[in-house]
Amino acid sequence: MIKKIFLFLLVAALLLVGIVLFNTFRFSKEIPIKASKELPALPDSALSHLRAAIRIPTITFGDGLPVDTLQFNTFWQLMEQQYPLVHQHLTHQSFNALSRLYHWPGKHPEQKPYVLMAHFDVVPVEAATAKQWTVAPFGGELKNDTVYGRGVADDKASLISILEATEKLLAQGFQPERDFYFSFGNDEETIGHGAQAIAKYMQEQKIKPEMVLDEGGEITREHFPELKRPVALIAVAEKGYMSFDLTVDQAGGHSSTPAKETAIDILSKGLVKLREKQMPYKVLPLIHEMFQRIGPGLSFAQRMAIANPWLFEKVLVGQLEKDKSSNALIRTTIVPTIVQSGMKDNVIPSVAKAIVNTRILPGQTPDDVEFFIRGQVDDARIVVTKASQADYNGPAAALDSKGYLLVENATYQVTKDVIPVPFLSVGATDSKYFQPFSEAVIKFLPSTDSKGFHGIDERMPVSDFKRMIYFYQIILTQAGK
Ligand SMILES: [Zn+2]
Repeated sequence: MIKKIFLFLLVAALLLVGIVLFNTFRFSKEIPIKASKELPALPDSALSHLRAAIRIPTITFGDGLPVDTLQFNTFWQLMEQQYPLVHQHLTHQSFNALSRLYHWPGKHPEQKPYVLMAHFDVVPVEAATAKQWTVAPFGGELKNDTVYGRGVADDKASLISILEATEKLLAQGFQPERDFYFSFGNDEETIGHGAQAIAKYMQEQKIKPEMVLDEGGEITREHFPELKRPVALIAVAEKGYMSFDLTVDQAGGHSSTPAKETAIDILSKGLVKLREKQMPYKVLPLIHEMFQRIGPGLSFAQRMAIANPWLFEKVLVGQLEKDKSSNALIRTTIVPTIVQSGMKDNVIPSVAKAIVNTRILPGQTPDDVEFFIRGQVDDARIVVTKASQADYNGPAAALDSKGYLLVENATYQVTKDVIPVPFLSVGATDSKYFQPFSEAVIKFLPSTDSKGFHGIDERMPVSDFKRMIYFYQIILTQAGK
């Protein structure tokens, strides 16, 4: 009997190993290479246009905080000077006073339009870090074939590239096959009221874009060094954004006679409990597909795990959880960002308050997250309420949609040996407002491992800027049926 059981287990084990190996070897070892093109030379004027745009400090400080509107208007004057044909052939309207929507009518108005998005507001340079910059943040300096300055990567190079490509095509007498809209937001770094107003207008006009293309993912050589090839992370969905308010209201008093538990104690314990456990992971189909597409270029062990998710999903997830960036791809994240209480060193405050920011995985809702927070905090004295408006975080753009395929094809053409893969944007972009009425909202720019955005020495190599202009040129010229 024991012999029979042993034999059975041996056969089962061999069968399991056989299936695992079969799946692993069937998972091809080569990722296809598609032909790319030589990027056309960059005219000197394009570089000076980008640098001039950086020199205008179009800074947004936070929702509701005043901005220097003169700078924003000066920016548009500069665009009108730099791109005369754009302003002769395309119409534009202003929204939220400082955002603009351009319209370029195509040859076939019956085809659904494409929308190209960018924003031209930039985040401030923190006073504490200003000294660490090696260049003037708003100098638009060109050093070692790299353009420096706040906003160059996020997101002025994109706006300038769209206009450069359009101006060039107009000079050749080109007209796109379908209508194009350019949506240029003035406050993406805060709430995105500009893009929101533009989206609302388009929805009212019953304009239903077949594709919307905005910032989000980019090309990376650093994240998958083992592939020895650039990987284009083409985001087809983004996480939702919601902040929660956690408040404790408890009698305070004189600090010489503290009660056993104060409002600060209760809130602190709640926050510690909240951070002890993460929301359960979920590998979205698009993340699964991303691994299917890069998997063949990875090591044998990694290929084995990816080719057999039914057996190794937990192992794969364990690997992803080790890194904060990849961890954010597989779960809703929850983190306290503001803690407020107290005003005098000898007074025990009666109110302690925290803001907890969450980034919600597509498919989950703010209510799901609120339920989790309450369960973790597990203290009725901590009142949990929603503190921001809910974002749309619905399904991803289809990988066989015209929009995705066009972006993928353009990426192949402008990037030698590239591996394009679907991706999830963990940050919020202006394009979320277009999601409810657009077919495919894609968040991707062909820049490479951008450096210094929202930080020190923000910069972009000239080669990336060149690639970006050509990328948009392909999108504009290959947008037919
Ligand atoms: Zn941005």
